[in-house]
Amino acid sequence: MTELSLVGPRPAISEIDSASLAAWLSARGEPAYRVDQVLSGAHRPEVATFDDLTDLPAALRSDVALAFRFSTIVDSHVIGADGGMTAKAVHELADGQRIESVLMRYAARGAMAERTTICISSQAGCAVNCPFCATGQAGFGRQLTPGEIVDQVLHWHRPPWSALGDAKTGHYNIVFMGMGEPLNNSDRVFEAVRLLNDPQRLGIGARHITVSTSGVVPGMDRMIEELPQVNLAISLHAATDALRDELVPINRKWPISEVIAAGRRFADRTGRRVSLEYVMIDGLNDTVEQADGLIMLARGWRSHLNLIPLNPTPGSRWSGTPTAGIERFMRRLRDGGLSVTVRDTRGREIDAACGQLHAQLSGRSLREAREAAVFAGTSS
Ligand code: SF4
Repeated sequence: MTELSLVGPRPAISEIDSASLAAWLSARGEPAYRVDQVLSGAHRPEVATFDDLTDLPAALRSDVALAFRFSTIVDSHVIGADGGMTAKAVHELADGQRIESVLMRYAARGAMAERTTICISSQAGCAVNCPFCATGQAGFGRQLTPGEIVDQVLHWHRPPWSALGDAKTGHYNIVFMGMGEPLNNSDRVFEAVRLLNDPQRLGIGARHITVSTSGVVPGMDRMIEELPQVNLAISLHAATDALRDELVPINRKWPISEVIAAGRRFADRTGRRVSLEYVMIDGLNDTVEQADGLIMLARGWRSHLNLIPLNPTPGSRWSGTPTAGIERFMRRLRDGGLSVTVRDTRGREIDAACGQLHAQLSGRSLREAREAAVFAGTSS
């Protein structure tokens, strides 16, 4: 953005670039240091509205509030789980589209400090149409803007959530694993990553950001050039094209061999390890043949297998692989020389798998949902 537009919704503070803000302030005769006061100020964890920018003169504060939106998110419904360690939000945007984000906190363990991971959406809905995913079933709404992506992080960074601790240091891990295929919205997702990186805003290091793709090969190659410090995760979910065509339909466009080749290019060129995500579906992709196929695909390059027990959507024809089956599968992969972990299943009771809470709230206002949650004692 080079100039503030007077048409359409007011620009959000999360996506305004500093040059445009500087021009706007200078037109009001304000000194240059006000840019930092507005931008850094609006990203401070204790700031809940423009009124809290108390180092600005009152008249400027109200001008800022008239010219900019504090957030692109107009309403949110949040529910918590795991004793307060997980919280999920459905956010409503200005045009009524709804998206999801999830906060996951991890207690300090041994030498490891407390960590906070925020999972965010890149699109309202998704066109990839994976049959095990509630977002895929709901279809595609629209692309999110960079501000709508960043505002999901700011939602958890601002009060009341900023009281949780990591907001002070901004040491979040950000994962693009919510609704949408981020590399089908690369321009805006890449811009959002730059905004998240910006030291005048949240200053989140690129190495703490992960973009997860269903296998959009050109987008993966763009990441090598434009975001080589950002982590790449590939949702693999099957080791043969016949099965992956069914589970991740974009495989018909970019089959496994091309996706793995792009993952290897990323690993070779950036020196970084690529995560291969594998949702475990009972009796379908947890067989010996699939395990042996995975070993062939993932061995010999910087990759790491992440096994995820399926959190089935309502009415799903599939269920998750039981724990014993996951352990058997993992042992076979490890014996085959792979680095493998099982992802913990956060927030099962709040439908934390992508798109599930959104689907559950369909047709209800967020206010109505909030009131019902307070009544049931599940609201956070
Ligand atoms: S799993 Fe990801 S890529 Fe597949 S439909 Fe769901 S959101 Fe889209």
